Amino acid sequence: MASDQPIPALYLDGRSNRKRSVELRLASGLEIIEPGAVVEVWPYGDIRRADGPPALLRLSCISALPLARLEIEDAAAQAVVVAACPSLDVGRSGPAQTRRIVVWSVAALGSILVLAIYGIPFAADRLAPILPLSVERRIGEGVDQQIRFMLGGKPCTGAEGQAAFTALVDQLKRAGGIDEPLEAHVVSSPVPNAFALPGGRIYLLEGLLQKAQTPDEVAGIIAHELGHVQHRDVMRKIIQTGGTSFLIGLLFGDVAGAGAVIFVSRSILDASYSRDAERNADAFAIEVMHKLGRSARPMGELLFRVTGAEANKSITILAGHPLTEDRLAAMKAADRPNSGPEILSPRQWLELRSICKAR
Ligand SMILES: [Zn+2]
Repeated sequence: MASDQPIPALYLDGRSNRKRSVELRLASGLEIIEPGAVVEVWPYGDIRRADGPPALLRLSCISALPLARLEIEDAAAQAVVVAACPSLDVGRSGPAQTRRIVVWSVAALGSILVLAIYGIPFAADRLAPILPLSVERRIGEGVDQQIRFMLGGKPCTGAEGQAAFTALVDQLKRAGGIDEPLEAHVVSSPVPNAFALPGGRIYLLEGLLQKAQTPDEVAGIIAHELGHVQHRDVMRKIIQTGGTSFLIGLLFGDVAGAGAVIFVSRSILDASYSRDAERNADAFAIEVMHKLGRSARPMGELLFRVTGAEANKSITILAGHPLTEDRLAAMKAADRPNSGPEILSPRQWLELRSICKAR
């Protein structure tokens, strides 16, 4: 087959389960064409081989939605596409990775037995703290794009704003004694929320940033999210809500694969932490703010501004962070005069606030 001929293929766009008949054309990238229109272009370097039946070439693309797939049946067409994609097998199991997966399979099998005997809450509590960070990070990377898709926003890229945000997060990390690498981004979504992903990624949504009046308010919220990271609450929640199916996914080394991605993303965005987990994250945030010589009260004020009066439940968007009376009381009680330097200068604060406007 000549490389300039259109190649018939099946296409799953990653949003629905419908397989669409498309044609592929090798241009500056791999063009996916439906009658009359190029619907998507996959850069050759981003295309990876996905698991599938032996005779079928199934492809994914690291810059497309995680569940997007292309399937090519014709052997000659497969050869043409394979020749065009230089990184097809990058990141696939080498011997070391296989060994890790085997070790983890044994661990996961053990966990399933523990689950069967003692139940899910027990397994989640025992398993979450010992899960290696590399596994968590893999899960985080796997769900990252899906989460951004569900939020309908993009990470904001204003360079000065990002520098200010990094400075803020670094101070909190140091004060909280967290040495693991951590990525923190502002995402251009109007929803006033913030959350942690597995593997140490924190998202602050622009809606919350715009509602904040001082750097201390934002710092308190981020410190609270760092508390969830430190206590491994995210993984605990995923294991708790996912239960056996998630552990079976672990067993087959498929945590970042198909169904698990959507499931984990939903549980990160929808489910809420337990009251205990929230109180512990608050306690962590209060401690961190005090170490920096700052009050924890502004965090409570921001949460209160966002969640509003108890009566107005329908707009309680911070589903994951309901501000109960006792939590607000704890933050008010932790009020103390500021003895440390400002977390951000007025200029840095302005730059952070406009991080989504800068080009
Ligand atoms: Zn929380």
